[in-house]
Formats: sequence, C-alpha cells, structure tokens
Amino acid sequence: MKYQYWAPEVETMPRPALEAVQLEKLKTAVGWALRTPFYRERLSGAGIKSADDIKTLGDVKRIPFTTKHDLREAFPYGLLSIPKEEVVRLHASSGTTGTPTTIYFNREDIKRWTGYVARCIYGTGCTGDDVFQNMITYGLFTGGLGMHAGGEEVGMLVIPSGAGNTTRQFRLMQDFGTTVVHATPSFLLHVESIMRAEGVGRGSIKLKRAFAGAEPYSEDTRKRIEGLLGIDVYNSYGLSEMNGPGVAFECQAKNGMHLWEDGYIGEIIDPETLEPLPDGETGELVLSCLCREATPILRYRTRDLSAFYTEPCACGRTHRRLRRITGRTDDMLIINGVNVFPSQIEEVIMSMREVGNNYLIVVEKEGVLDRLTVKVEVGPDIFMDDARPLNALREKIRKTIQASITISPRVELHEPGALPISEGKAKRVQDSRPKDI
Ligand code: AMP
Ligand code: ZN
Repeated sequence: MKYQYWAPEVETMPRPALEAVQLEKLKTAVGWALRTPFYRERLSGAGIKSADDIKTLGDVKRIPFTTKHDLREAFPYGLLSIPKEEVVRLHASSGTTGTPTTIYFNREDIKRWTGYVARCIYGTGCTGDDVFQNMITYGLFTGGLGMHAGGEEVGMLVIPSGAGNTTRQFRLMQDFGTTVVHATPSFLLHVESIMRAEGVGRGSIKLKRAFAGAEPYSEDTRKRIEGLLGIDVYNSYGLSEMNGPGVAFECQAKNGMHLWEDGYIGEIIDPETLEPLPDGETGELVLSCLCREATPILRYRTRDLSAFYTEPCACGRTHRRLRRITGRTDDMLIINGVNVFPSQIEEVIMSMREVGNNYLIVVEKEGVLDRLTVKVEVGPDIFMDDARPLNALREKIRKTIQASITISPRVELHEPGALPISEGKAKRVQDSRPKDI
C-alpha cells in the first residue's frame, strides 16, 4: 500500500527529533498555562514558576493532573490565558449545554487544530477530489465544525449535513456523490438498516470511507459496518478538552490510532495509583495539549482506557498509536455519541417536588441506536389515576432533562415504592447495551 502524508516531515520524524519538538512545545504550553489563575496556583505548588523550570520531557510528570472537576471549578474564565477580545470561538463537551467544561480558541489555535484534523483525514487516503458529508452534530460539540474545517483544509467538498434525518442524508449522498462520511458508529449502522428498509441500492451511492468516533465500539463493529456498506471505516478519537477530533486517528494500516505527539503528550497511568504504565499496558489515558494557547490544559485525566502499541506502524509514521478505547474509569455514559453523567439526570429529578425518591436510568439498544429511559417514582401527592397531571409531569421531566443533557429521554412514571430498591449502594443505572453492537 502507498501511504500518503499531509505533513510528511512531522509525521515521520525520528523519535529523538519528535521528542525535542515536544519539549519545546511543552515549555511554551507551560508558559501559556502560567498566565491562568488556575495553573499559576497549581504549577507553583509543584515548584514550576516559569517555563524554564521544565528542562526535560520527563518533567511533564511534575505537573499535577487536571480533572473534569477542575475545569468545572475554573469555569468560566479560570483557564483563559489570553484577553477575551482575542478569543474567536468556544466549544463544550457533548451533552453539556454550555457551562461546565468550556474551551476557548484564538485564531491560531483554530488553525493548529484544523491542521491536525487535516492530517488525520488525508492519512486515510482522502484527497481534494473527495466529497465529505459530515453527519455529526454541529454546534457546541467539536465534531461538527472541527471535522468540517479539516475537510476544507484538505480541499474536499464538505457537506455540513449534521446528524440525523437519514432519508435526507441519502438524498445528499446521491445528489452530490458523497465519498466520505463522518458519524458515530451507531449512526452508521442505523444508516445501513434504513438503506435496506427504504430500498436504497448500494450502487446509487459512491461512498468509500467513513470516520467513526465519539463513542466506543469494537473491532467487530467496525468490520460489520465495513462489510455491510462495503467501505473502509477509520477510528477517530478526540475530546473537547484536547480541541475535539484530530487527537488520534487511524491511518490506512487500520491498526491503532496515531496520537499526534507534536501536538499532544500522551501518558497511560494506573487509575488507582496514578503511576505511569509502560507502553503496551492498559490504563487511563492522560493528555497534555501543546497546541492551544487560549485554554491550556495539561495532564488531563481523560478517564478513557487505552494502551500504547509497542511495535512500529506499517505506514512509517513515528507517532505512537493508541489502542481502541475500551471503556472509562468513571460512570459517564455515552448515549448515541453524547456524554451523559447520571448525576446530571439526578439533579433534574431531585429538583422537582412532585417526584419521589427513587428513580432508575435505563440505557438499551433499540435497533442499532441507543435509547434512554428514565423511570421515576412520583411523590405521594400525585394520583396515578389522573392522566392529565401525569402527562404534564412526564413532559416536564422530559423537557428539563433534555435541556440539561441535550438528549430527549423516554420518561416512565411509577407509583411510590414500585421501583426496585437495591440493598446497599443504590444502583441507579441499568445499561443493558451489549458490548458489541
Ligand atoms: P467530547 O468532549 O464530547 O468530544 O467527548 C469526548 C469523549 O468521547 C472521550 O473522552 C471518549 O470517552 C469518547 N470518544 C470520543 N471518540 C471516541 C472513540 N473513537 N472511541 C471511543 N470513545 C470515544
Ligand atoms: Zn500508521
């Protein structure tokens, strides 16, 4: 196979040179971080008072970890390192409605980010001749605008179709000869089943490739999508805290995702002891962003479980590869690609006086998509035989949850005492989705 590189010198740079680049960029990023109230305090506590206190790449380990909790505490501007007038964009984690983890970009940050995304896209064999339909949510979520910009940078025709509306997606594919799509793996499976149901012939579309990410999926799922649609599927990993897509991506060898180490420093740690683990061992991925000035984030605990491959990649790139993400070390659920913490749902339910004390969050597969149901016991003052107030309450819960997590759940109301009470630690989440979709 002939592999193509967007930035050949950087992508195939010998490791010592790459590590020298990382050290330089780490110093710069520490300088940016020291301008923020949050890191000034954190870093000075660790004896890092200026960028020059970073002397070797190993010094990254002197930097204390940053967590999602820290980002929330620092909201809204505790992590901003530049004057507000220089900020040109903000993004947030999927499933949040703007507040808790907000990331700011200046013009250069957007350019750098776009460069990494272009590198990922080009590395899968795409060129300016391709037509790219970005079937993912646009908005605060980074997957829309982030992949969009990368596609334009490569010179592809980019169709900002957004997520959902499968029938319209087919129309666009047929009308404009789409060759590449970006979607969650579950939406790709959904697309295939609707294609079959609506009798859309494979011959009527020109699809060759898909970028699939935003949620975990197995190698078997990838193979299934590839087989059903007759395309190549590339795994795309990113998170808003590290800009969004473009952090790690599969090349045409399709064997692990290259982490762009000139833009990010990756470590795998034991989530219990927080000690670093050697390449090859599975643990929590910790990432430092070397390429965003406006909101520097260093040693971020992603909570994602992965490992670094030890053997070099057939494509010749020297940037280490991450294994497919296999799970998380916290209770975050990913529902159709949207991040949801059970506590967000609990907050909504518990804030309503009409609601009782017990509830259950159920996540299951409905066809190939995820379905969220929230089962709630009503309070003692609500009569279960009076349909009107019940319907109103159900709708109120549904709308308020949707406003908080962006997903509309199915809401079931139950009589007081009807939901199971677990002995010991309450089990509020029932996730019956098979590991392998
Ligand atoms: P967000 O900040 O909304 O972009 O969400 C980022 C999170 O989505 C990551 O921390 C992962 O848990 C998950 N995620 C993104 N891409 C993938 C992928 N390719 N495989 C597994 N999980 C992913
Ligand atoms: Zn490779």
